Amino acid sequence: MTAQTPSPRLNLVGADRAQVAAVLADIDPRPYRIEQVYHWVTRRLVASIEDMSNLSKPLRAALSERAMIQDPGIVETVHAPDGTLKLALVHRDGSVVEAVVMPMEGHVTVCLSVQTGCAVGCVFCVTGALGPGRNLTGAEIFGQYRAILRSTGLAGQPLNLVFMGMGEPLLNLEGLERALELLADTVSPRRITVSTSGIVPGLRRLAALPRRPNLAVSLNATTQAQRARLMPAAARWPLDELLDALHAYPLERGRRITVEYVLLAGINDSPDDARRLPVLLRGLPVKVNLIPLNPDPQFLPGLQAPDEERINAFAATLAAAHMNVTVRWSKGREVAAACGQLRGRLVPTPG
Ligand code: SAH
Ligand code: SF4
Repeated sequence: MTAQTPSPRLNLVGADRAQVAAVLADIDPRPYRIEQVYHWVTRRLVASIEDMSNLSKPLRAALSERAMIQDPGIVETVHAPDGTLKLALVHRDGSVVEAVVMPMEGHVTVCLSVQTGCAVGCVFCVTGALGPGRNLTGAEIFGQYRAILRSTGLAGQPLNLVFMGMGEPLLNLEGLERALELLADTVSPRRITVSTSGIVPGLRRLAALPRRPNLAVSLNATTQAQRARLMPAAARWPLDELLDALHAYPLERGRRITVEYVLLAGINDSPDDARRLPVLLRGLPVKVNLIPLNPDPQFLPGLQAPDEERINAFAATLAAAHMNVTVRWSKGREVAAACGQLRGRLVPTPG
């Protein structure tokens, strides 16, 4: 027999039940054992096989020969005065993403990244300004969640998860779907929100999932021409096609689609915009989330949020048209952890 190079060990983070079963096949293939190992990773969030305390030592040793547990490493944590925590996580290839933990009333919201940059190239977004990155794997996305929960001690607490960090979730369906599957045992889909810039084929695929998360759509414009200027790659799907996909998105009773609208002074904040928005959204169960631009003079020169009076006037016009509207006064702005400010690379501070 020729000598074979040992097959690489499987990272149990990101493995589905079938992969766990395959790795246990010649050690201990009993179904309850497969469940046990799967749950050590997905529910108990253990950092090593050694920590799987109800497995015998020999079993842990045999498993360690074939598999391992590997999460992205947390390389930086920054606390904002408002309680927001920004974390930088590094992967094996050295790429870095950022994630954000936001204490809210009665729960904590964790915001995850799905790509190391973004190819959509929205002109108001730092992640977009950095250009396209690579897709994170399901293991890396789920590993982000595991690493964050372990390091913050949040495991077991009421949690909302939002895919609103770096990247476009519907351009990384493979990673997103695997992460959703791995979360399925511990986080209700009602507590998960996927935010998209409106990738129509991805929306259709999301709509077909048996356990659909909540949907947030970044509209950001009220005409196709304006949207094409602001969100070049997303506007490849015309507004009417996007709206059709939203009308077709199956919603459970009482659920609404969140429509995100970043307010940019002098660009998309006019009274005409405010009047057009309810017309576009007519007949859709939505809540509109107005997000005053989080500025970044380095990456987003020349772009500003409207002043408070103009923001309130915009919101009032929507409310007068019977729209459910809220203004998202972003958290974590002081430490560049707010929407659109995530950059992933550790940018050295001058001086
Ligand atoms: N790619 C997805 C999810 C990540 S962006 C999407 O675009 O929906 C998350 C949200 O942040 C989006 O609603 C986006 O419009 C918003 N956003 C991006 N840059 C921003 C900025 N500079 N200020 C405020 N919100 C921003
Ligand atoms: Fe990408 Fe979303 Fe930023 Fe647009 S707003 S560049 S889609 S991350």
